[in-house]
Amino acid sequence: MGDNFQTDSRQMLARLREVMAEDGHGQARLDRITALIAQEMRTEVCSVYLFRDADTLELCATEGLKAEAVHQTRMRLGEGLVGRVARTGKQVNTADAPKEHGFRYMPETGEEIYSAFAGVPIQRLGETLGVLVVQSKNARKYSEDEIYALEVVAMVLAEMAELGAFVGDNAPMTARHTKPVMFRCTCVQEGAAEGHVWLHEPRVVITNPIADDPVKERERLHEAVEHLRVGVDKMLATASQGGAEQLEVLETYRMFANSKGWMRRMEEDIERGLSAEAAVEKEQTAARTRLSGATDQYLRERLHDLDDLSNRLLRILTGQGKETGADIPADPILVARNIGPAELLDYGRSLRGIVLEEGSVGSHAAIVARALAIPLVIHANNITTEALNGDLIMVDGDNGMAHLRPEETVLSAFRDKIAMQAQAQEVYASIREKPAITKCGTRMTLTMNAGLMADLPSLEGSGAEGVGLFRTELQFLVRSRMPTRSELSALYSHVLDNAKGKRVVFRTLDIGSDKVLSYMKPNDEPNPALGWRAIRVGLDKPGVMRMQLQALIRAANGRPLTVMFPFVAQYEEYRQARAEMEKTLERERILGHPIPSCIEVGAMLETPSLAFAPRRFFEEVEFISIGGNDLKQFFFAADRENERVRKRYDTLNVSFLTFLQSIVERCKETETPLSFCGEDAGRPVEAVCLAAMGLRALSMRPASIGPVKSLLMKVDLRVVRAEIERAAEDGEQSVRAAVMKYLKTLDK
Ligand code: PEP
Ligand code: MG
Repeated sequence: MGDNFQTDSRQMLARLREVMAEDGHGQARLDRITALIAQEMRTEVCSVYLFRDADTLELCATEGLKAEAVHQTRMRLGEGLVGRVARTGKQVNTADAPKEHGFRYMPETGEEIYSAFAGVPIQRLGETLGVLVVQSKNARKYSEDEIYALEVVAMVLAEMAELGAFVGDNAPMTARHTKPVMFRCTCVQEGAAEGHVWLHEPRVVITNPIADDPVKERERLHEAVEHLRVGVDKMLATASQGGAEQLEVLETYRMFANSKGWMRRMEEDIERGLSAEAAVEKEQTAARTRLSGATDQYLRERLHDLDDLSNRLLRILTGQGKETGADIPADPILVARNIGPAELLDYGRSLRGIVLEEGSVGSHAAIVARALAIPLVIHANNITTEALNGDLIMVDGDNGMAHLRPEETVLSAFRDKIAMQAQAQEVYASIREKPAITKCGTRMTLTMNAGLMADLPSLEGSGAEGVGLFRTELQFLVRSRMPTRSELSALYSHVLDNAKGKRVVFRTLDIGSDKVLSYMKPNDEPNPALGWRAIRVGLDKPGVMRMQLQALIRAANGRPLTVMFPFVAQYEEYRQARAEMEKTLERERILGHPIPSCIEVGAMLETPSLAFAPRRFFEEVEFISIGGNDLKQFFFAADRENERVRKRYDTLNVSFLTFLQSIVERCKETETPLSFCGEDAGRPVEAVCLAAMGLRALSMRPASIGPVKSLLMKVDLRVVRAEIERAAEDGEQSVRAAVMKYLKTLDK
């Protein structure tokens, strides 16, 4: 049957193309298609079920079942065999349908006389649009070839649906990409924004899924794959200095480009009548379906690589580049599967918001989005398949939602929210130049956290009194190679110029744990957060740290310089790091470089151990900054990246606040300046409690300074402290409720 059937399959597609070319509205087309398939496959029934909404499938056309059932018969996702195909994205092929698990027959269709059933999903890029079904009276199982042919037809149907072929009067299907869709996402950067979709990678549109000359199509495919292979080899040749991870990705690309299985499947698809691009997309869809079920991280990454490679191949075949000629909207909201930090920086502040299908809270793109204060949500499932360039979209970074083509009610509620935020911004702007003095007269110092050039404009805009934490590793993270000393020096000098005399605390490289440099050999550590990171790397391999210290001294060029070492867990580490600083200063002096007019060297307190360091440490260190993000994760033994445990322990937990208070007291005894620079400093309620525990300097994201200052100016810290003490005495675990009760009285 093999070869014979393949010819039939081609013929079926050729006739399908004729049907598609004929005039007529969507329903007539679908009716003709089901008749055609039934006839070509010599089977009594052929039906098309399409999604009516996200959970309901509707019989939209049939040859063989009762005509009255069309547009009447509906089933929920997962219901019956059709619902099962739709839910799982996997075919069902059985000679005895009633015996099949989950079978449910629809009496109005008259299908009780049919025993054999085969259903395949109508899918496009991992998204299921419906189900194509054939049925017959005699109890036979459809052959592999027949199923394959059905899949090919289903793929063409999906492609046609995407192009709007089944839309019309009495439409079986509403036009694609027109309905409102809400995506539940994970929040990364707060804020709300309205704008229009800008797809980072516009979709390739396939207008010719069917081809009648397989020889020519095979040639086209081979040429395109060759083109791709040469391109990948070239990338490999130039990327050899780009680090192990990049090489690994490219090697995987090469592996797929040479993969016989991948090629063979695409050639078979062509043999059955698909065009080269449709064959690529069919395999891409299959990979995406597998991807949605894969939990293994390695496998997921490889399937992603295959997906990327298919996109490249589609661009080569169709000649559709990234440039589609479309203009970027004035209010772009970037929609992408994922994006690298450098690409995001290229877009810069022009973006109103960002919605990604993937990514992680600690990713480099997230770091950049935070620096640019652009609302960012991630894990928006399938949004790149659903959204079209220019669609209206709203990003809610506070609640983790994206509303694509929103309904009027959502739109107006969202606009109200944006307006309220704008009002609050006005209030913050009005207190920007005022000192942060609480109602009880306590002067607080509010500084900002930074790390990228993109942060610098916020130094003026936010009212920050300086930079309390400059995360120098961000400059290393957003590059594909190690920056040079002179590059770093120029950059730090630029930062100091922009600070116009305000204090900038440069933290030396804090890599390891969640901050992995693509161009450095990865460490296979069972517990990276507890592993070889930050100052530990700096002291064991001092080359980079020395280079960085030199760059900082040269950047200061006779101006004051403040340097802070991350993740100091014991006194000795601080002493060694400080000694490195002295040595570097001496070397620079000998080399004739100007020495900073004054130097402060501090330590970050990020592990509980340092809070118990000998008094000598507190006397010697010039300042301490509490890195609350790390300190909290070690205090509670709860991974800061793990959503499940991260939120379990409140910062306003009595034990944690008591611990912070003890650090404040130790610093008081030795008059060691103390600040707090973890994320909690930027949360108004938390900031008030930190102040109540005796902290006087807080460093936070620039956008948090307004809200924090505004609340601090209203509170009496003595009352907050009394509330905290009372809650602690009562044995409460968190003081949040007690503090909130007091704060609420301030609004009245
Ligand atoms: C911290 O741990 O609180 C901190 C400020 O450092 P990072 O978040 O960069 O680890
Ligand atoms: Mg830290």
